[in-house]
Amino acid sequence: MRSLFPSDEKYVEVAVPLPLDKPFTYRVPAGQEVRARVGVRVLVPFGRQKLTGLVTAVVDESALDGHAAKDVIAFLDEEPYITGRHLAFLGRAARACLAPLGEMLRTALPRGLARHDAPSTPRTETFYSVAPDAVDATMTPKQKLVAAALREAGALSSAALSAKVPGGADVAKRMVLRGLAAAEVRDKVVGLSDTHLPDLAGTLDPTPAQHAALDAIGATIRDHAAATFVLHGITGSGKTEVYLRAIEMVRSQGRQSIFLVPEIVLTPQLLGRVRSRFGDGVAVLHSQLTPAERTAQWRRVRAGEVFLCVGARSAIFSPFPDLGLIVVDEEHDAAYKQEDGIRYQARDLALLRSAIEGATVLLGSATPSAEAVRMTQTGAATLLELPERIGDSTLPEIRIVDLKNQVGRRGADRYFSPELEAAVEETLARGEKAMLFLNRRGYAPVLSCLDCASTIQCSNCQVSLAFHKEYDALLCHYCHGRQKAPDACPTCGGHKLAQMGLGTERLAAWAEKRWEGARVARLDSDVGRTKGAASDVLARMHRGEVDILVGTQMIAKGHDFPEVTFVGVLYADASLNFIDFRASERTFQILTQVAGRAGRGDRPGTVLIQTLSPDNSCLHRIAEHDFFGFMKEELATREALAYPPFGRMMLLRLWGVKEERVRDASALVAVALSEALAAHDVRLLGPAPSPIARVKKLYRFQILLKMPVDFPVADVFPELLRPLRDAVRRHGVRLEADVDPYQMLV
Ligand code: ADP
Ligand code: ZN
Repeated sequence: MRSLFPSDEKYVEVAVPLPLDKPFTYRVPAGQEVRARVGVRVLVPFGRQKLTGLVTAVVDESALDGHAAKDVIAFLDEEPYITGRHLAFLGRAARACLAPLGEMLRTALPRGLARHDAPSTPRTETFYSVAPDAVDATMTPKQKLVAAALREAGALSSAALSAKVPGGADVAKRMVLRGLAAAEVRDKVVGLSDTHLPDLAGTLDPTPAQHAALDAIGATIRDHAAATFVLHGITGSGKTEVYLRAIEMVRSQGRQSIFLVPEIVLTPQLLGRVRSRFGDGVAVLHSQLTPAERTAQWRRVRAGEVFLCVGARSAIFSPFPDLGLIVVDEEHDAAYKQEDGIRYQARDLALLRSAIEGATVLLGSATPSAEAVRMTQTGAATLLELPERIGDSTLPEIRIVDLKNQVGRRGADRYFSPELEAAVEETLARGEKAMLFLNRRGYAPVLSCLDCASTIQCSNCQVSLAFHKEYDALLCHYCHGRQKAPDACPTCGGHKLAQMGLGTERLAAWAEKRWEGARVARLDSDVGRTKGAASDVLARMHRGEVDILVGTQMIAKGHDFPEVTFVGVLYADASLNFIDFRASERTFQILTQVAGRAGRGDRPGTVLIQTLSPDNSCLHRIAEHDFFGFMKEELATREALAYPPFGRMMLLRLWGVKEERVRDASALVAVALSEALAAHDVRLLGPAPSPIARVKKLYRFQILLKMPVDFPVADVFPELLRPLRDAVRRHGVRLEADVDPYQMLV
């Protein structure tokens, strides 16, 4: 019942970590009003359960609209768990991705909103220092040694102390009891083990180009302006140095920075540089952290104990109290797009967050994305250039090799031109290192019957199975199903099953056989599956223990191996022929990045690109190191077709167990959308079966929407899609929206 008299009772709106769009309203129990603040966590009754939620607004009775409200059971935080600005960011990010706020909270906060965010086995360490009033005369000789070590360092962790003075930690513990020393428990800095990290300390004088870039960036950092810069520079041109100095500027203002990298496990060198520069002031978020470690890092960030967070895409959610800068290194990398759960693009969220926080965004790349280049053309971003490699190293010479006429070569040999073989030979003869790049893992991508020409397919998915020798099995790269290779063709019973095509595993085996005595190593996601194996290969590479490194794009990312002077691209067509409007852009990016591994030291590098389409213009632009020439052509094509960045796209995916139902549901959604959007300039393509129409036993359909670039996606679609999602779910069909999709193929 609504009271006739206005009450001064307080209510809170609470978002719970469930896929729900709307917050729920609860009454604040009398006497607890001061604790009701935006951003604190609360325990609330929800149906028959109790849930932890986050207060999104403090309201009065009028918000109830006549409904009854249950009481908040408990307020869990004295101080807001996250700032109001951060909450505002998460709300807008949720709408931009067409995701419910509750789901965004679950994605962005460690373990959702779990009540006990303290790790159950705390990763802490004890730091000792000498008590201010301790008198040496009262100490034993051993205690004096410990005191001297502590005084010299100020404070030491127990591990560091025991390393200096054997048994030192135990001595210090007893000194604390006697009042001779003080102990302080701190969260342990967790991350990659420091043993792999080269020490690259030391400060450098910026080059004139770095100076110019830093002047421009420094001005917006000082003004707390939400400005965006695209820092274009080839590998080795000094971008990282610019990032680190910009981070220093922000730190000197007492503000914090986020440094996003595509894949943190692949960047030990970068981490080494960051650590040696900033020491303990850095939190590192990477995918191999346990939930407890992740929570511990998150707390350090929230408390402002660190001024920099380095991490992969999810680090964009770092809850810093006063964010001044977001660096997105290799901003073109597709790894910034999250491909399950909420499909967010971390680079785009960086721009969104910058606008809310007044933070500067620095998008760095040797091959900026079409989106970033377009931003510099419209004035949304400022282009900064680092035109030269630092030092004497020059760009590698890149040549294109026609793979069509490999006369007399059979099997895997067809993938090796005489030019490539000779180049590897010469490289090894000079005592230098080579890299061979192939964007396909496994031994052979296809097992094909020579009698009936059918290929062995996954029984769950509409794709060919790849043969992996190391597992002695056929693997599906979509559902990760594994089965034994059959002796006979399942279609015709024939016994001539041939391993077709080339994967990294076969390439490594081939290289080992061809260059006996050469030390060959392989790096791809199969290797990466074993914990520590990838960083192991990289460490061996750094120690010069690998002569030929074979791998997928994992070998391309940011590594700096001065001894590598030759890079061979086995088969450029693998990425060029993708049915995706970004195929050329991706090929340019990945091959430029791979090529950039050659000749980083003082010896010049050579690159060979083998292809079946030697006239392809994208490949020629790569060979000419002509990024802007390529981008000009690419943007012209995109504009003509109204593809991003000149239009926006959204992919609706529908899937379910029964093909009929998925087809009918897709038709229903398409009709509803075309009616609702009739007045708008939106084009609907489909519904059609997805390019891979069946994955994990589920049938998949899709609808592609093409919209003008300024279409208010976040305002129109949440309300439009909600009833449709519910309607198809009643038919056992799931509907998912992917705004600005990157994976068009699956
Ligand atoms: P990028 O990030 O563009 O690949 P880096 O910042 O890693 O480039 O710089 C490449 C190399 O040049 C590194 O070894 C770095 O230490 C060095 N370097 C960067 N800036 C300078 C400078 N101003 N003076 C001398 N060496 C520099
Ligand atoms: Zn499968």
